[in-house]
Amino acid sequence: MKKQAINPNKIWSEWRNIPCWIQFLHHLYPESVVREVEAIEDGFLELAQAEEQRWLEQIAADMPRSEQEWLRAFPEAREVIPSKIQEWRQEERKWMVVLRGELKRAETLQGNAQILAREIARMFTAPKVVEAQRHIRRLKWLTANPRTRGGGVSRPDIEAAKSVPVEQVFNMPLRQSGKTLMGFCPFHPERRPSFCIYPKTNSFYCFSCQRGGGVIRLVQLLRSCGFIEAVKYLLNR
Ligand SMILES: [Zn+2]
Repeated sequence: MKKQAINPNKIWSEWRNIPCWIQFLHHLYPESVVREVEAIEDGFLELAQAEEQRWLEQIAADMPRSEQEWLRAFPEAREVIPSKIQEWRQEERKWMVVLRGELKRAETLQGNAQILAREIARMFTAPKVVEAQRHIRRLKWLTANPRTRGGGVSRPDIEAAKSVPVEQVFNMPLRQSGKTLMGFCPFHPERRPSFCIYPKTNSFYCFSCQRGGGVIRLVQLLRSCGFIEAVKYLLNR
């Protein structure tokens, strides 16, 4: 008898046709919990919606995601960096003194005691020095990097950009479904719409690819650009 081969395409297309809220719950809970909840049909839908709401609240804060972007968005933070570098320099010096002392003391010991004392210095004190040096390098890099220089946007700019309705950025047909708008996800082909827009929180979420966020995030994804560029795009459109 011929063994039936597994067809990943078939599995994927079947998976996509499962109602989106079941996919969502599978994503959050282990199999056993999902099966138990599926048995209580009505309560299940309610729970899925509550989970979705909780998730939406988390993504509503559409803010820069990297240190570089934060610095570009709020260049005033740049003034704090020199004093932070000073703090880490002091920390570096402090641990260097401790490390030297420990290594000197190790010299006076013999055999295994010496090996042990050296090992302790290497494992516990040296990393403190390395950590301080790493922070100094990071902060110096942040101030020196031209990509973090200027071009800042203000907090009111970000707020203004965030208030541009998601559905205005998303140029695809949408269908009203209760309080949400549904459409085809712009990031992959699909047969059933799984891209949701939530006008109340001005955010979006795709139940297939699990991309989601606010309007700034959507512009970043659609235009493959950074946070600042997305804010500027939204302000100038
Ligand atoms: Zn998607």
